[in-house]
Amino acid sequence: MTVSQARSRAPGRSNPFDWSGGHPALDLVNTLDERPFDTPIEMLAGYGDLLNFAELAGLIEASAAKRLRSFGGPACTRVVRRVRDLREQLYAILAAIHDGLPVPQNPLDAIAAEVRRAHAARAFTATGRSGAIVSGWRLPASQEMPLHACALAIEDLLLSADHGRIRKCGAADCEVYFIDTSKAHRRQWCSMKNCGNREKQRRWRSATE
Ligand SMILES: [Zn+2]
Repeated sequence: MTVSQARSRAPGRSNPFDWSGGHPALDLVNTLDERPFDTPIEMLAGYGDLLNFAELAGLIEASAAKRLRSFGGPACTRVVRRVRDLREQLYAILAAIHDGLPVPQNPLDAIAAEVRRAHAARAFTATGRSGAIVSGWRLPASQEMPLHACALAIEDLLLSADHGRIRKCGAADCEVYFIDTSKAHRRQWCSMKNCGNREKQRRWRSATE
Protein backbone atom coordinates (compact mmCIF):
# COMPACT_ATOMS: atom_id res chain seq x y z
CA MET A 1 0.00 0.00 0.00
CA THR A 2 1.49 3.34 -0.97
CA VAL A 3 1.41 6.29 1.36
CA SER A 4 -0.99 8.22 -0.84
CA GLN A 5 -3.33 5.21 -1.01
CA ALA A 6 -3.26 4.93 2.76
CA ARG A 7 -4.08 8.59 3.16
CA SER A 8 -6.90 8.49 0.65
CA ARG A 9 -8.35 5.42 2.35
CA ALA A 10 -8.84 7.24 5.60
CA PRO A 11 -10.56 10.49 4.71
CA GLY A 12 -12.46 10.56 8.00
CA ARG A 13 -9.38 10.29 10.20
CA SER A 14 -8.09 13.31 11.99
CA ASN A 15 -5.22 14.48 9.81
CA PRO A 16 -3.38 17.36 11.46
CA PHE A 17 0.02 15.97 10.50
CA ASP A 18 2.75 17.50 8.38
CA TRP A 19 3.50 15.17 5.46
CA SER A 20 6.29 17.15 3.88
CA GLY A 21 9.00 14.74 5.13
CA GLY A 22 8.80 12.43 2.12
CA HIS A 23 9.54 9.43 4.38
CA PRO A 24 7.37 8.14 7.26
CA ALA A 25 10.28 8.37 9.71
CA LEU A 26 10.78 12.05 8.87
CA ASP A 27 7.04 12.61 9.06
CA LEU A 28 7.28 11.08 12.54
CA VAL A 29 10.04 13.54 13.55
CA ASN A 30 7.78 16.33 12.32
CA THR A 31 4.93 15.27 14.64
CA LEU A 32 6.47 17.59 17.22
CA ASP A 33 5.48 20.83 15.57
CA GLU A 34 7.08 24.23 16.15
CA ARG A 35 10.24 22.77 17.69
CA PRO A 36 12.17 26.07 17.82
CA PHE A 37 9.53 27.64 20.08
CA ASP A 38 9.21 27.42 23.88
CA THR A 39 6.03 25.39 23.65
CA PRO A 40 6.20 22.97 20.71
CA ILE A 41 2.93 21.39 19.65
CA GLU A 42 2.65 17.66 20.37
CA MET A 43 0.70 15.93 17.60
CA LEU A 44 1.08 12.50 19.24
CA ALA A 45 -0.74 13.38 22.45
CA GLY A 46 -2.49 10.04 22.85
CA TYR A 47 -2.78 6.52 21.49
CA GLY A 48 -5.58 7.53 19.09
CA ASP A 49 -3.28 10.17 17.57
CA LEU A 50 -0.54 7.58 17.16
CA LEU A 51 -2.94 5.18 15.40
CA ASN A 52 -4.11 7.96 13.10
CA PHE A 53 -0.54 8.87 12.26
CA ALA A 54 0.56 5.27 11.69
CA GLU A 55 -2.45 4.54 9.49
CA LEU A 56 -2.21 7.74 7.45
CA ALA A 57 1.55 7.28 7.03
CA GLY A 58 0.88 3.81 5.58
CA LEU A 59 2.78 2.14 8.44
CA ILE A 60 -0.11 -0.04 9.59
CA GLU A 61 -3.17 -1.30 7.75
CA ALA A 62 -6.51 0.43 8.28
CA SER A 63 -7.99 -2.88 9.49
CA ALA A 64 -5.31 -3.18 12.20
CA ALA A 65 -5.77 0.45 13.23
CA LYS A 66 -9.50 -0.19 13.52
CA ARG A 67 -8.96 -3.17 15.82
CA LEU A 68 -6.45 -1.24 17.93
CA ARG A 69 -8.81 1.70 18.45
CA SER A 70 -10.61 -0.33 21.12
CA PHE A 71 -7.36 -0.59 23.11
CA GLY A 72 -6.50 1.86 25.85
CA GLY A 73 -5.12 2.26 29.34
CA PRO A 74 -1.62 2.66 30.77
CA ALA A 75 -0.03 0.12 28.39
CA CYS A 76 -1.09 2.25 25.39
CA THR A 77 0.15 5.40 27.12
CA ARG A 78 3.55 3.72 27.54
CA VAL A 79 3.56 2.85 23.83
CA VAL A 80 2.97 6.51 22.93
CA ARG A 81 5.80 7.54 25.27
CA ARG A 82 8.16 5.06 23.63
CA VAL A 83 7.25 6.35 20.16
CA ARG A 84 7.95 9.91 21.29
CA ASP A 85 11.30 8.75 22.74
CA LEU A 86 12.13 7.07 19.42
CA ARG A 87 11.17 10.23 17.58
CA GLU A 88 13.45 12.39 19.74
CA GLN A 89 16.31 9.89 19.36
CA LEU A 90 15.99 10.15 15.60
CA TYR A 91 15.74 13.93 15.88
CA ALA A 92 19.02 14.01 17.87
CA ILE A 93 20.72 12.03 15.08
CA LEU A 94 19.32 14.23 12.30
CA ALA A 95 20.22 17.42 14.17
CA ALA A 96 23.81 16.20 14.68
CA ILE A 97 24.15 15.32 10.98
CA HIS A 98 22.64 18.66 10.00
CA ASP A 99 25.03 20.57 12.28
CA GLY A 100 28.06 18.61 11.05
CA LEU A 101 28.61 17.04 14.48
CA PRO A 102 29.47 13.39 15.23
CA VAL A 103 26.36 11.19 15.35
CA PRO A 104 25.73 10.39 19.04
CA GLN A 105 25.86 6.69 19.93
CA ASN A 106 23.18 6.65 22.68
CA PRO A 107 20.22 7.37 20.39
CA LEU A 108 21.56 4.87 17.85
CA ASP A 109 21.66 2.19 20.58
CA ALA A 110 18.17 3.07 21.80
CA ILE A 111 16.78 2.91 18.26
CA ALA A 112 18.56 -0.40 17.61
CA ALA A 113 16.92 -1.87 20.74
CA GLU A 114 13.44 -0.87 19.50
CA VAL A 115 14.25 -2.16 16.00
CA ARG A 116 15.21 -5.55 17.49
CA ARG A 117 11.88 -5.70 19.36
CA ALA A 118 10.04 -4.74 16.17
CA HIS A 119 11.70 -7.54 14.19
CA ALA A 120 10.79 -9.97 16.98
CA ALA A 121 7.13 -9.02 16.43
CA ARG A 122 7.32 -10.08 12.77
CA ALA A 123 7.04 -13.57 11.31
CA PHE A 124 7.50 -15.23 7.93
CA THR A 125 4.60 -17.20 6.51
CA ALA A 126 4.23 -19.22 3.34
CA THR A 127 1.18 -18.32 1.29
CA GLY A 128 -0.86 -20.86 -0.68
CA ARG A 129 0.66 -23.45 -2.94
CA SER A 130 3.07 -21.10 -4.65
CA GLY A 131 5.19 -21.12 -1.52
CA ALA A 132 5.68 -17.37 -1.65
CA ILE A 133 6.99 -16.17 1.68
CA VAL A 134 5.65 -12.99 3.19
CA SER A 135 6.65 -11.08 6.28
CA GLY A 136 3.86 -9.93 8.56
CA TRP A 137 2.96 -9.19 12.14
CA ARG A 138 2.98 -12.18 14.48
CA LEU A 139 -0.20 -10.91 16.18
CA PRO A 140 -3.08 -9.29 14.23
CA ALA A 141 -3.58 -6.67 16.96
CA SER A 142 -0.86 -5.87 19.44
CA GLN A 143 -0.90 -2.48 21.12
CA GLU A 144 2.79 -2.14 20.27
CA MET A 145 2.20 -2.51 16.52
CA PRO A 146 2.37 1.25 15.73
CA LEU A 147 5.55 1.52 17.85
CA HIS A 148 7.16 -1.39 16.01
CA ALA A 149 6.07 0.05 12.66
CA CYS A 150 7.69 3.41 13.53
CA ALA A 151 10.90 1.62 14.58
CA LEU A 152 11.04 -0.24 11.25
CA ALA A 153 10.46 3.00 9.33
CA ILE A 154 13.36 4.59 11.22
CA GLU A 155 15.55 1.58 10.44
CA ASP A 156 14.69 2.02 6.77
CA LEU A 157 15.55 5.72 6.88
CA LEU A 158 18.86 5.21 8.68
CA LEU A 159 20.04 2.28 6.58
CA SER A 160 18.52 2.93 3.16
CA ALA A 161 17.89 6.62 2.62
CA ASP A 162 20.39 8.95 1.00
CA HIS A 163 21.40 10.97 4.06
CA GLY A 164 22.91 13.66 1.88
CA ARG A 165 19.41 14.48 0.70
CA ILE A 166 17.88 14.83 4.16
CA ARG A 167 17.47 18.51 4.90
CA LYS A 168 16.02 20.82 7.49
CA CYS A 169 13.69 23.54 6.28
CA GLY A 170 15.62 26.72 5.50
CA ALA A 171 13.22 28.99 7.41
CA ALA A 172 14.74 30.27 10.64
CA ASP A 173 11.66 29.40 12.68
CA CYS A 174 11.02 25.92 11.24
CA GLU A 175 12.69 22.61 12.04
CA VAL A 176 10.77 20.36 9.68
CA TYR A 177 13.00 17.68 8.14
CA PHE A 178 12.45 16.29 4.65
CA ILE A 179 14.11 14.29 1.91
CA ASP A 180 14.95 16.42 -1.07
CA THR A 181 13.72 14.40 -4.04
CA SER A 182 13.71 17.37 -6.41
CA LYS A 183 15.64 16.89 -9.66
CA ALA A 184 18.04 19.73 -9.00
CA HIS A 185 18.45 18.77 -5.29
CA ARG A 186 17.86 22.36 -4.31
CA ARG A 187 14.68 22.11 -2.27
CA GLN A 188 14.96 24.56 0.63
CA TRP A 189 11.57 24.62 2.28
CA CYS A 190 9.29 22.13 3.97
CA SER A 191 6.56 23.66 1.87
CA MET A 192 6.58 26.47 -0.65
CA LYS A 193 3.08 27.42 0.44
CA ASN A 194 4.10 28.16 4.01
CA CYS A 195 7.79 28.61 4.77
CA GLY A 196 8.92 29.25 1.18
CA ASN A 197 6.57 32.17 0.57
CA ARG A 198 7.03 33.56 4.08
CA GLU A 199 10.84 33.54 3.77
CA LYS A 200 10.74 35.05 0.28
CA GLN A 201 8.57 37.89 1.56
CA ARG A 202 10.86 38.38 4.57
CA ARG A 203 13.96 38.53 2.35
CA TRP A 204 12.25 40.84 -0.09
CA ARG A 205 11.22 43.16 2.77
CA SER A 206 14.71 43.26 4.26
CA ALA A 207 16.22 43.89 0.79
CA THR A 208 13.92 46.86 0.17
CA GLU A 209 14.22 48.43 3.62
ZN1 LIG B 1 9.41 25.02 7.06
